[in-house]
Amino acid sequence: MSQQAAPAPMQADSAPTSAPTAPGAPTPAPTPAATSPHNLAARILAGHTLTHAEALALLATPDEDTLDLLNAAFRLRREHFGLSVKVNYLVNLKSGLCPEDCTYCSQRLGSAAQILKYTWLDKDEAVRQAKLGIGGGARRVCMVASGRGPTDRDVDRVSAMIADLKADHPEIEVCACLGILKDGQAERLRAVGVDAYNHNINTAESHYEDICSTHSYADRVATVEKAQAAGMSACSGIIVGMGESDEQLVEAVFALRDMGSDSIPVNFLMPFDGTPLEGTWELSPLRALRILALVRFAAPDRELRMAGGREMHLRSLQPIALQAANSLFLGDYLTSEGQSAEEDLAMIRDNGFHVLGERPGEPGFTGASGEACASAAGESSCCGSGCGSTTTTAAGASATPAPRKRGAGTDLDPNA
Ligand code: SF4
Repeated sequence: MSQQAAPAPMQADSAPTSAPTAPGAPTPAPTPAATSPHNLAARILAGHTLTHAEALALLATPDEDTLDLLNAAFRLRREHFGLSVKVNYLVNLKSGLCPEDCTYCSQRLGSAAQILKYTWLDKDEAVRQAKLGIGGGARRVCMVASGRGPTDRDVDRVSAMIADLKADHPEIEVCACLGILKDGQAERLRAVGVDAYNHNINTAESHYEDICSTHSYADRVATVEKAQAAGMSACSGIIVGMGESDEQLVEAVFALRDMGSDSIPVNFLMPFDGTPLEGTWELSPLRALRILALVRFAAPDRELRMAGGREMHLRSLQPIALQAANSLFLGDYLTSEGQSAEEDLAMIRDNGFHVLGERPGEPGFTGASGEACASAAGESSCCGSGCGSTTTTAAGASATPAPRKRGAGTDLDPNA
């Protein structure tokens, strides 16, 4: 844990101001006028870069002032992303059976989590699964495989899937997530049209050895840099609630900002039974909101995705999280079930937001299909064959992750 003095928390605008201090007295904490999140948001809009002390103060915001903090974060979100929400869809191309030992991961070496385990989907099935997500409203598809990193043959395999998908859906962004890249692999993925590469740093460099021993923080950063050098957009984020201190959380967020991660997924630890972090519950819904606000203040113009674990950690505050986040995953995660895709889309629209790509002029807009999907949102089915059959509400606010039992790797339709 941090040895530093506790930071002055962010306070609501209505809080009283501090009294003046005598000459020679210790430097007082900033007055609420200076630490107000709205004041800070205004300064950031004017070009200020969030400092380390300000970041810690954001995290120290009292529960009773956290909704005001989110309201301030909304000013930054709205400036850069309006009211749009990017909807992403995960296709797990290869599940479980990983030789790495990331403590948080249900697919790790030795995991006893009751997840789906399968080797590579064939090309047609992978493309079919991706199209079901697109039919459900996704404008970015994330093609993911477990493992330390791809072989060159794996890159060929995934390249063929993506070439087919891009041929039918050139408007859709494709993100690949295949692990640590070797020299030349990023360039080959970019050449077939991969728009982005996801490789999360997961936590602070100073905390990395506590969560993984089979590869290093530097390995992960090197892959992000390879993806960027090849011309792909970097998608790199974190998992919170793994024993990191506030200092380490700020360290990780600032690292993502400084390395130029274009999209920042914030995952909230899903402590699967059968993994080393089983039973680890460190987050409250308001704490989860403060973390999202921190990322928005630190990187106001980056895509901020509320990612895995949002249902069980944000719980009823998910809609408020959209004031900071402008992106989410639709439906299920790699190995666990999310809330239904219908609920995701209804949450977006009920709160005055819209799916990015369904309006003219937005990336991914295709006219009729986007409008059709939009018009059906919130009803019992959306569009495409994958939507109407997925009416199940999954893990939601339950206390443990519900392993995914539908979609890729099963005979059942996905949650899309
Ligand atoms: S996070 Fe990736 S590398 Fe680590 S155990 Fe899970 S699948 Fe393997």
